[in-house]
Amino acid sequence: MLMQDFYKDGRKQIISFEIFPPKTNKGMENLQSVLPDLISLKPDFMTVTYGALGSTRDTTLEIASLIKNKYKMETACHLTCVGSSRKELDDILKRLVDSNIRNIVALRGDPPKGETKFLTPQDGYSHAHQLVEHIREFEKKQGLEPFGLAVAGYPEKHLEAKSMENDISNLKNKIEAGAEVIITQLFFDNAFYFKFLDKVRQAGINVPIIPGLMPVLSVTQIQRITSMCGSSIPRKLQAELDLAIDDDDKAHQIGVEQCVNQAKELLKHGVEGIHFYVLNKSTHIRQIMESIYKE
Ligand code: FAD
Repeated sequence: MLMQDFYKDGRKQIISFEIFPPKTNKGMENLQSVLPDLISLKPDFMTVTYGALGSTRDTTLEIASLIKNKYKMETACHLTCVGSSRKELDDILKRLVDSNIRNIVALRGDPPKGETKFLTPQDGYSHAHQLVEHIREFEKKQGLEPFGLAVAGYPEKHLEAKSMENDISNLKNKIEAGAEVIITQLFFDNAFYFKFLDKVRQAGINVPIIPGLMPVLSVTQIQRITSMCGSSIPRKLQAELDLAIDDDDKAHQIGVEQCVNQAKELLKHGVEGIHFYVLNKSTHIRQIMESIYKE
């Protein structure tokens, strides 16, 4: 099933989980043991991120294929412009088709570790809208059914964007190029999402805008992630986390509570779905799912 079709039904709010390809054998073993547990929570689909510069590309496809073909759960592969020429992108797209993967989250990608600026690969692309165009052209050339195609949106503005207006105008290019779903960067204050939603709708973008939520697992983890992606931590949450700096159990509990409160408010507001960044762990997301659907 294509990603956009999940949101068309309207009878239920769609839950998706995002996982990442581990870099080590131990990480892979851990993911393989966690996967059945994640799948038992019955998300509607899962997505697998794409590592910078080929570091985990094969693993992305391997995991997505496992979820789709062994566990029979719908899945999307993330795909970025980093380090790939058009020809290499075509090769990856062919491998997705061969592996029965019909959904893609199309991204520009972040610069690889140690680099601060995104470098356009030779004969490749500088922005996600070009990747979306490339995928739509590839389908036509190959005579394929269209992929399900999602792109990223930023409720607190992308770090490099000159202004929110500029960022939303660039987001519109991605939709006009053929993307049909927007998944947002993580945020800890729903007010950012609600404001973003209004502005994106005012800009004439009408596709589903799926909020991305990441539960805090530890103080160091969330500091590292927010410093990279530019999402802010509200003062109240920061104050609670400051008291749990050396206590991962406490941080976990704060993170679960925060995520449940955000999810409940968003669902009540009528969002089409929620995308959880589950970070290859299942304990916290099980607690979150159980709390959300308790009533
Ligand atoms: P773009 O849409 O190209 O935007 C990047 C910047 O360029 C923005 O500031 C935008 O406003 C600006 N821009 C766009 N078009 C133009 C233009 N024509 N002229 C000038 N400026 C322009 N990263 C990974 O490496 N792997 C992943 O799997 C991955 N998954 C992600 C999933 C989600 C849901 C999200 C939200 C992010 C993910 N990322 C991933 C991170 C993402 O790659 C980074 O945020 C990256 O910096 C931007 O990617 P983008 O697709 O939004 O880029």
